[in-house]
Amino acid sequence: MAKRGIEALGQVRGKRVLVRVDFNVPLRPASGSSSGEMAVGDDYRLVMSLPTIRRLRDAGARVILGSHLGRPSGGKVEPEFSMKPVAERLSQLLGAPVRFVPDVAGEAAKQAAGELKDGEVLLLENLRFEKGEKKGDEAFGKQLAGLAELFVNDAFGVSHRGDASVTVVPKVLPAAAGELVAKEVVNLGPLRDGTAPRPFGVVMGGGKLADKIPVLEALAPKVDAIFVGGGMSYTFLKAQGKEIGRSRHEPELLDEAKRIMAAAGSKLVLPIDHVVAASPDDPTGYAVVEDLPGDRMALDIGPKTIAEFCRRLAGMKTVFWNGPLGVFEKRPFNLGTNYIASFLGFSKSIHTVVGGGDSAAAARELGIEDQMGWVSTGGGASLEFVQGETLPGVAALPDA
Ligand code: ADP
Ligand code: MG
Repeated sequence: MAKRGIEALGQVRGKRVLVRVDFNVPLRPASGSSSGEMAVGDDYRLVMSLPTIRRLRDAGARVILGSHLGRPSGGKVEPEFSMKPVAERLSQLLGAPVRFVPDVAGEAAKQAAGELKDGEVLLLENLRFEKGEKKGDEAFGKQLAGLAELFVNDAFGVSHRGDASVTVVPKVLPAAAGELVAKEVVNLGPLRDGTAPRPFGVVMGGGKLADKIPVLEALAPKVDAIFVGGGMSYTFLKAQGKEIGRSRHEPELLDEAKRIMAAAGSKLVLPIDHVVAASPDDPTGYAVVEDLPGDRMALDIGPKTIAEFCRRLAGMKTVFWNGPLGVFEKRPFNLGTNYIASFLGFSKSIHTVVGGGDSAAAARELGIEDQMGWVSTGGGASLEFVQGETLPGVAALPDA
Protein backbone atom coordinates (compact mmCIF):
# COMPACT_ATOMS: atom_id res chain seq x y z
CA MET A 1 0.00 0.00 0.00
CA ALA A 2 2.69 2.50 0.99
CA LYS A 3 4.65 4.01 -1.85
CA ARG A 4 8.39 4.44 -2.25
CA GLY A 5 9.41 7.80 -0.79
CA ILE A 6 12.11 10.29 -1.72
CA GLU A 7 14.72 8.43 0.34
CA ALA A 8 14.48 5.52 -2.09
CA LEU A 9 15.86 7.73 -4.87
CA GLY A 10 19.26 7.59 -3.16
CA GLN A 11 21.78 10.36 -3.64
CA VAL A 12 20.04 13.28 -5.35
CA ARG A 13 22.86 15.83 -5.16
CA GLY A 14 23.59 17.24 -8.60
CA LYS A 15 20.66 15.34 -10.11
CA ARG A 16 17.80 16.97 -11.98
CA VAL A 17 14.59 15.95 -10.23
CA LEU A 18 11.26 16.63 -11.91
CA VAL A 19 8.56 17.20 -9.28
CA ARG A 20 4.92 17.12 -10.39
CA VAL A 21 3.19 19.50 -7.99
CA ASP A 22 -0.41 20.65 -7.76
CA PHE A 23 -0.05 24.41 -8.03
CA ASN A 24 -3.53 24.84 -9.50
CA VAL A 25 -4.14 27.98 -7.45
CA PRO A 26 -6.60 30.82 -7.92
CA LEU A 27 -5.06 33.99 -9.41
CA ARG A 28 -6.19 37.57 -8.82
CA PRO A 29 -5.07 40.90 -10.29
CA ALA A 30 -1.81 41.98 -8.60
CA SER A 31 -2.33 44.95 -6.28
CA GLY A 32 -1.21 48.22 -7.82
CA SER A 33 -0.82 46.71 -11.26
CA SER A 34 -2.63 48.36 -14.15
CA SER A 35 -1.03 46.17 -16.80
CA GLY A 36 -3.10 43.07 -16.08
CA GLU A 37 -0.42 41.39 -13.96
CA MET A 38 -1.66 38.55 -11.79
CA ALA A 39 -0.77 37.30 -8.32
CA VAL A 40 -1.55 34.11 -6.37
CA GLY A 41 -4.91 34.45 -4.57
CA ASP A 42 -4.58 31.50 -2.17
CA ASP A 43 -1.17 29.91 -1.68
CA TYR A 44 -2.08 26.89 0.45
CA ARG A 45 -1.26 24.42 -2.31
CA LEU A 46 2.21 25.97 -2.57
CA VAL A 47 2.66 25.73 1.19
CA MET A 48 1.66 22.05 1.13
CA SER A 49 4.45 21.21 -1.32
CA LEU A 50 7.17 23.09 0.56
CA PRO A 51 8.34 20.02 2.56
CA THR A 52 9.15 18.12 -0.63
CA ILE A 53 10.82 21.08 -2.33
CA ARG A 54 12.86 21.98 0.76
CA ARG A 55 13.93 18.40 1.28
CA LEU A 56 15.18 18.06 -2.29
CA ARG A 57 16.92 21.45 -2.23
CA ASP A 58 18.59 20.70 1.07
CA ALA A 59 19.88 17.46 -0.39
CA GLY A 60 21.43 19.37 -3.30
CA ALA A 61 18.99 18.31 -6.02
CA ARG A 62 18.29 20.49 -9.05
CA VAL A 63 14.54 20.86 -8.71
CA ILE A 64 12.28 21.19 -11.75
CA LEU A 65 8.65 21.86 -10.83
CA GLY A 66 5.76 21.20 -13.20
CA SER A 67 2.05 21.86 -12.64
CA HIS A 68 -1.12 22.77 -14.44
CA LEU A 69 -3.17 25.84 -13.60
CA GLY A 70 -6.82 26.34 -14.52
CA ARG A 71 -8.33 24.92 -17.66
CA PRO A 72 -6.53 26.29 -20.67
CA SER A 73 -7.90 24.92 -23.92
CA GLY A 74 -4.57 23.16 -24.57
CA GLY A 75 -2.09 23.32 -27.37
CA LYS A 76 -1.27 26.99 -26.97
CA VAL A 77 -0.04 29.62 -24.54
CA GLU A 78 -2.83 31.49 -22.76
CA PRO A 79 -1.31 34.27 -20.67
CA GLU A 80 -4.11 34.29 -18.06
CA PHE A 81 -3.11 30.72 -17.13
CA SER A 82 0.64 31.38 -16.94
CA MET A 83 2.56 29.91 -13.98
CA LYS A 84 4.75 33.02 -13.75
CA PRO A 85 2.92 34.60 -10.76
CA VAL A 86 3.25 31.25 -8.99
CA ALA A 87 7.05 31.34 -9.31
CA GLU A 88 7.08 34.73 -7.60
CA ARG A 89 4.92 33.62 -4.66
CA LEU A 90 6.80 30.34 -4.29
CA SER A 91 10.07 32.21 -4.15
CA GLN A 92 8.75 34.33 -1.26
CA LEU A 93 7.55 31.24 0.60
CA LEU A 94 10.78 29.36 0.00
CA GLY A 95 13.02 32.32 0.80
CA ALA A 96 15.07 31.50 -2.28
CA PRO A 97 14.91 32.40 -5.97
CA VAL A 98 12.62 30.31 -8.16
CA ARG A 99 13.49 30.49 -11.83
CA PHE A 100 10.68 30.48 -14.33
CA VAL A 101 10.83 29.38 -17.95
CA PRO A 102 7.96 30.27 -20.31
CA ASP A 103 8.10 26.82 -21.90
CA VAL A 104 6.82 23.39 -20.89
CA ALA A 105 9.19 20.79 -22.28
CA GLY A 106 10.74 22.30 -25.40
CA GLU A 107 14.25 23.59 -26.11
CA ALA A 108 13.94 26.57 -23.73
CA ALA A 109 12.83 24.32 -20.86
CA LYS A 110 15.64 21.89 -21.61
CA GLN A 111 18.20 24.66 -21.56
CA ALA A 112 16.85 26.17 -18.32
CA ALA A 113 16.88 22.74 -16.67
CA GLY A 114 20.44 22.19 -17.84
CA GLU A 115 21.59 25.48 -16.34
CA LEU A 116 20.34 24.64 -12.83
CA LYS A 117 22.93 24.40 -10.07
CA ASP A 118 22.67 22.16 -7.02
CA GLY A 119 19.80 23.27 -4.77
CA GLU A 120 18.26 25.58 -7.37
CA VAL A 121 14.59 25.54 -8.33
CA LEU A 122 12.96 26.00 -11.73
CA LEU A 123 9.23 26.23 -12.44
CA LEU A 124 8.03 25.17 -15.88
CA GLU A 125 5.15 26.84 -17.70
CA ASN A 126 1.61 25.42 -17.36
CA LEU A 127 1.77 21.74 -18.35
CA ARG A 128 -1.69 21.96 -19.90
CA PHE A 129 -0.40 24.39 -22.51
CA GLU A 130 0.67 21.12 -24.14
CA LYS A 131 -2.28 19.08 -25.42
CA GLY A 132 -0.47 15.83 -24.58
CA GLU A 133 -0.60 16.44 -20.83
CA LYS A 134 -4.34 15.99 -20.36
CA LYS A 135 -4.47 13.24 -22.98
CA GLY A 136 -1.86 11.19 -21.14
CA ASP A 137 0.17 11.20 -24.33
CA GLU A 138 3.22 8.90 -24.27
CA ALA A 139 5.37 11.09 -26.52
CA PHE A 140 4.72 14.21 -24.45
CA GLY A 141 5.34 12.31 -21.20
CA LYS A 142 8.69 11.09 -22.53
CA GLN A 143 9.63 14.57 -23.66
CA LEU A 144 8.82 15.94 -20.20
CA ALA A 145 10.77 13.13 -18.54
CA GLY A 146 13.70 14.06 -20.77
CA LEU A 147 14.20 17.22 -18.71
CA ALA A 148 15.23 15.24 -15.63
CA GLU A 149 16.94 12.15 -14.23
CA LEU A 150 14.52 11.41 -11.39
CA PHE A 151 10.79 11.95 -10.78
CA VAL A 152 8.75 12.78 -7.70
CA ASN A 153 4.95 12.92 -7.68
CA ASP A 154 3.70 15.41 -5.10
CA ALA A 155 0.41 16.16 -6.87
CA PHE A 156 -2.16 13.99 -5.11
CA GLY A 157 -5.00 16.20 -6.41
CA VAL A 158 -4.15 15.22 -10.00
CA SER A 159 -3.35 11.57 -9.39
CA HIS A 160 -6.89 10.36 -10.10
CA ARG A 161 -6.44 11.55 -13.67
CA GLY A 162 -4.48 9.93 -16.45
CA ASP A 163 -2.38 13.03 -17.16
CA ALA A 164 0.98 12.33 -18.83
CA SER A 165 3.01 13.96 -16.05
CA VAL A 166 1.70 11.57 -13.40
CA THR A 167 1.28 8.39 -15.47
CA VAL A 168 3.93 8.39 -18.22
CA VAL A 169 6.88 10.11 -16.52
CA PRO A 170 7.10 7.54 -13.66
CA LYS A 171 7.35 4.77 -16.27
CA VAL A 172 10.39 6.46 -17.80
CA LEU A 173 12.29 7.77 -14.77
CA PRO A 174 13.04 6.29 -11.35
CA ALA A 175 10.08 7.61 -9.37
CA ALA A 176 8.95 8.22 -5.81
CA ALA A 177 6.07 9.71 -3.85
CA GLY A 178 6.70 13.19 -2.50
CA GLU A 179 6.06 14.09 1.13
CA LEU A 180 2.52 15.30 0.41
CA VAL A 181 1.47 12.25 -1.60
CA ALA A 182 2.98 10.02 1.11
CA LYS A 183 0.96 11.84 3.82
CA GLU A 184 -2.23 11.58 1.78
CA VAL A 185 -1.77 7.84 1.35
CA VAL A 186 -0.94 7.34 5.03
CA ASN A 187 -3.97 9.36 6.19
CA LEU A 188 -6.58 8.22 3.69
CA GLY A 189 -5.39 4.61 3.40
CA PRO A 190 -6.85 3.37 6.74
CA LEU A 191 -10.27 4.84 5.89
CA ARG A 192 -10.25 2.98 2.61
CA ASP A 193 -8.89 -0.28 4.04
CA GLY A 194 -11.22 -0.28 7.03
CA THR A 195 -8.24 -0.27 9.43
CA ALA A 196 -9.00 3.14 11.00
CA PRO A 197 -9.51 2.96 14.79
CA ARG A 198 -13.18 2.44 15.68
CA PRO A 199 -15.76 3.63 16.33
CA PHE A 200 -15.38 5.17 12.90
CA GLY A 201 -17.95 7.74 11.78
CA VAL A 202 -18.57 9.52 8.52
CA VAL A 203 -20.03 13.01 8.24
CA MET A 204 -21.38 13.64 4.78
CA GLY A 205 -22.96 16.68 3.26
CA GLY A 206 -22.64 18.67 0.09
CA GLY A 207 -24.90 19.50 -2.74
CA LYS A 208 -25.68 16.27 -4.52
CA LEU A 209 -26.36 12.74 -3.37
CA ALA A 210 -25.37 11.49 -6.84
CA ASP A 211 -21.74 12.56 -6.18
CA LYS A 212 -21.64 10.78 -2.85
CA ILE A 213 -23.28 7.44 -3.54
CA PRO A 214 -20.03 5.63 -4.44
CA VAL A 215 -18.21 6.76 -1.30
CA LEU A 216 -21.29 6.10 0.87
CA GLU A 217 -21.59 2.58 -0.49
CA ALA A 218 -17.89 1.87 -0.12
CA LEU A 219 -17.68 3.14 3.46
CA ALA A 220 -21.04 1.96 4.82
CA PRO A 221 -19.87 -1.57 5.71
CA LYS A 222 -16.67 -0.24 7.37
CA VAL A 223 -18.16 2.45 9.60
CA ASP A 224 -20.22 2.61 12.77
CA ALA A 225 -22.28 5.70 11.93
CA ILE A 226 -23.04 7.93 8.95
CA PHE A 227 -24.18 11.47 9.72
CA VAL A 228 -25.83 13.08 6.72
CA GLY A 229 -26.59 16.76 6.25
CA GLY A 230 -26.46 19.29 3.45
CA GLY A 231 -28.37 19.15 0.19
CA MET A 232 -28.02 15.38 -0.10
CA SER A 233 -30.04 14.76 3.07
CA TYR A 234 -33.28 16.02 1.50
CA THR A 235 -33.39 13.20 -1.03
CA PHE A 236 -33.31 10.80 1.95
CA LEU A 237 -36.01 12.73 3.83
CA LYS A 238 -38.19 12.90 0.74
CA ALA A 239 -37.73 9.13 0.26
CA GLN A 240 -39.04 8.72 3.83
CA GLY A 241 -42.18 10.54 2.69
CA LYS A 242 -41.40 13.78 4.52
CA GLU A 243 -42.35 17.25 3.31
CA ILE A 244 -39.13 18.93 2.13
CA GLY A 245 -40.59 22.13 0.66
CA ARG A 246 -38.41 23.59 -2.09
CA SER A 247 -35.21 22.02 -0.73
CA ARG A 248 -32.68 20.71 -3.17
CA HIS A 249 -33.17 17.03 -3.89
CA GLU A 250 -32.77 14.46 -6.66
CA PRO A 251 -36.13 12.87 -7.60
CA GLU A 252 -34.42 10.27 -9.79
CA LEU A 253 -32.54 8.93 -6.76
CA LEU A 254 -35.46 8.29 -4.43
CA ASP A 255 -35.36 4.52 -4.92
CA GLU A 256 -31.58 4.50 -4.55
CA ALA A 257 -31.94 6.54 -1.34
CA LYS A 258 -34.44 4.02 0.04
CA ARG A 259 -32.07 1.17 -0.76
CA ILE A 260 -29.14 2.93 0.96
CA MET A 261 -31.25 3.65 4.05
CA ALA A 262 -32.42 0.04 4.23
CA ALA A 263 -28.84 -1.24 3.94
CA ALA A 264 -27.39 1.24 6.44
CA GLY A 265 -30.19 0.82 8.98
CA SER A 266 -29.62 2.67 12.23
CA LYS A 267 -26.09 3.68 11.17
CA LEU A 268 -27.58 6.45 9.05
CA VAL A 269 -28.35 9.61 11.03
CA LEU A 270 -30.41 12.32 9.31
CA PRO A 271 -31.13 15.94 10.30
CA ILE A 272 -34.02 16.53 12.71
CA ASP A 273 -34.24 20.27 12.26
CA HIS A 274 -33.27 22.78 9.61
CA VAL A 275 -32.54 26.39 8.81
CA VAL A 276 -34.92 27.51 6.06
CA ALA A 277 -35.21 30.59 3.89
CA ALA A 278 -36.65 31.68 0.55
CA SER A 279 -33.29 31.06 -1.19
CA PRO A 280 -29.56 30.95 -0.42
CA ASP A 281 -29.28 34.51 -1.73
CA ASP A 282 -32.11 35.82 0.39
CA PRO A 283 -31.69 35.04 4.09
CA THR A 284 -34.28 37.63 5.21
CA GLY A 285 -36.77 35.97 7.51
CA TYR A 286 -34.74 32.75 7.79
CA ALA A 287 -35.99 30.43 10.52
CA VAL A 288 -35.20 27.22 12.36
CA VAL A 289 -37.86 24.56 11.87
CA GLU A 290 -38.44 20.87 12.50
CA ASP A 291 -41.18 20.48 9.90
CA LEU A 292 -40.23 21.94 6.55
CA PRO A 293 -42.75 24.44 5.17
CA GLY A 294 -43.83 23.90 1.56
CA ASP A 295 -42.56 27.22 0.23
CA ARG A 296 -39.09 27.27 1.79
CA MET A 297 -35.69 25.74 1.13
CA ALA A 298 -33.63 23.98 3.79
CA LEU A 299 -30.20 25.57 3.65
CA ASP A 300 -28.48 24.28 6.78
CA ILE A 301 -28.86 21.82 9.64
CA GLY A 302 -30.54 23.24 12.74
CA PRO A 303 -29.32 23.42 16.37
CA LYS A 304 -30.93 20.15 17.51
CA THR A 305 -29.21 18.34 14.66
CA ILE A 306 -25.90 19.98 15.53
CA ALA A 307 -26.29 18.91 19.16
CA GLU A 308 -27.33 15.36 18.25
CA PHE A 309 -24.51 14.91 15.71
CA CYS A 310 -21.95 16.21 18.23
CA ARG A 311 -23.31 14.01 21.03
CA ARG A 312 -22.90 10.92 18.90
CA LEU A 313 -19.64 12.04 17.27
CA ALA A 314 -18.09 12.45 20.72
CA GLY A 315 -17.79 8.68 21.00
CA MET A 316 -15.92 8.25 17.71
CA LYS A 317 -12.19 7.61 17.43
CA THR A 318 -12.02 8.29 13.69
CA VAL A 319 -14.18 10.58 11.56
CA PHE A 320 -14.09 11.16 7.83
CA TRP A 321 -15.82 14.41 6.96
CA ASN A 322 -16.81 15.14 3.39
CA GLY A 323 -19.28 17.77 2.31
CA PRO A 324 -20.51 20.97 3.97
CA LEU A 325 -23.68 20.55 6.05
CA GLY A 326 -25.30 23.63 4.58
CA VAL A 327 -24.79 26.35 2.00
CA PHE A 328 -21.63 27.39 3.84
CA GLU A 329 -20.70 30.04 1.27
CA LYS A 330 -23.58 32.21 2.52
CA ARG A 331 -24.14 33.50 6.03
CA PRO A 332 -25.91 32.44 8.21
CA PHE A 333 -26.08 29.07 6.44
CA ASN A 334 -22.43 28.37 7.33
CA LEU A 335 -23.18 27.77 11.01
CA GLY A 336 -23.97 24.05 10.86
CA THR A 337 -20.76 23.37 8.94
CA ASN A 338 -18.76 25.59 11.25
CA TYR A 339 -20.09 24.05 14.48
CA ILE A 340 -19.50 20.50 13.31
CA ALA A 341 -16.05 21.35 11.90
CA SER A 342 -15.02 23.10 15.13
CA PHE A 343 -16.32 20.23 17.25
CA LEU A 344 -14.36 17.71 15.19
CA GLY A 345 -11.22 19.85 15.14
CA PHE A 346 -11.18 20.66 18.84
CA SER A 347 -12.08 17.15 20.05
CA LYS A 348 -8.69 15.65 20.58
CA SER A 349 -10.08 12.16 21.14
CA ILE A 350 -11.34 12.15 17.53
CA HIS A 351 -8.95 11.78 14.61
CA THR A 352 -10.70 13.69 11.83
CA VAL A 353 -9.77 13.43 8.19
CA VAL A 354 -11.31 16.03 5.90
CA GLY A 355 -11.81 15.24 2.22
CA GLY A 356 -13.38 17.22 -0.62
CA GLY A 357 -12.51 20.63 -1.98
CA ASP A 358 -15.35 22.59 -0.37
CA SER A 359 -14.99 20.89 3.02
CA ALA A 360 -11.26 21.62 3.06
CA ALA A 361 -12.00 25.23 2.09
CA ALA A 362 -14.54 25.49 4.93
CA ALA A 363 -11.98 24.19 7.45
CA ARG A 364 -9.37 26.64 6.15
CA GLU A 365 -11.80 29.56 6.22
CA LEU A 366 -12.47 28.78 9.86
CA GLY A 367 -8.73 28.74 10.46
CA ILE A 368 -8.82 25.33 12.13
CA GLU A 369 -7.25 23.11 9.50
CA ASP A 370 -4.30 22.55 11.83
CA GLN A 371 -6.70 21.18 14.48
CA MET A 372 -7.76 18.39 12.14
CA GLY A 373 -5.95 15.07 11.90
CA TRP A 374 -5.54 15.63 8.19
CA VAL A 375 -7.08 17.93 5.58
CA SER A 376 -6.69 16.29 2.20
CA THR A 377 -5.50 18.44 -0.67
CA GLY A 378 -7.09 15.93 -3.01
CA GLY A 379 -10.62 17.22 -3.65
CA GLY A 380 -12.08 14.64 -6.02
CA ALA A 381 -8.97 12.48 -5.73
CA SER A 382 -9.45 12.01 -1.98
CA LEU A 383 -13.00 10.70 -2.50
CA GLU A 384 -11.96 8.34 -5.27
CA PHE A 385 -9.11 7.03 -3.14
CA VAL A 386 -11.28 6.52 -0.05
CA GLN A 387 -13.94 4.70 -2.06
CA GLY A 388 -11.27 2.23 -3.13
CA GLU A 389 -10.58 3.29 -6.67
CA THR A 390 -7.12 2.94 -8.15
CA LEU A 391 -5.59 6.36 -8.75
CA PRO A 392 -3.48 6.06 -11.92
CA GLY A 393 -0.90 8.55 -10.62
CA VAL A 394 -0.45 6.69 -7.35
CA ALA A 395 -0.53 3.25 -8.98
CA ALA A 396 2.28 4.38 -11.32
CA LEU A 397 4.62 4.85 -8.33
CA PRO A 398 6.67 1.89 -7.10
CA ASP A 399 5.57 0.27 -3.82
CA ALA A 400 7.75 0.71 -0.76
P1 ADP B 1 -16.85 18.79 -1.25
O1 ADP B 1 -16.23 19.69 -2.29
O2 ADP B 1 -16.29 19.03 0.11
O3 ADP B 1 -16.86 17.36 -1.65
P2 ADP B 1 -19.49 19.20 -2.31
O4 ADP B 1 -18.90 19.80 -3.55
O5 ADP B 1 -20.11 17.88 -2.39
O6 ADP B 1 -18.41 19.22 -1.14
O7 ADP B 1 -20.65 20.16 -1.75
C1 ADP B 1 -20.49 21.52 -1.55
C2 ADP B 1 -21.70 22.29 -1.94
O8 ADP B 1 -22.88 21.78 -1.33
C3 ADP B 1 -21.60 23.73 -1.53
O9 ADP B 1 -21.56 24.53 -2.70
C4 ADP B 1 -22.86 23.98 -0.72
O10 ADP B 1 -23.46 25.24 -0.96
C5 ADP B 1 -23.76 22.86 -1.17
N1 ADP B 1 -24.80 22.59 -0.17
C6 ADP B 1 -24.66 22.19 1.08
N2 ADP B 1 -25.85 22.10 1.72
C7 ADP B 1 -26.80 22.47 0.82
C8 ADP B 1 -28.23 22.60 0.86
N3 ADP B 1 -28.93 22.34 1.97
N4 ADP B 1 -28.84 23.02 -0.26
C9 ADP B 1 -28.15 23.29 -1.38
N5 ADP B 1 -26.81 23.18 -1.49
C10 ADP B 1 -26.13 22.78 -0.40
MG1 MG C 1 -17.00 20.47 -4.13
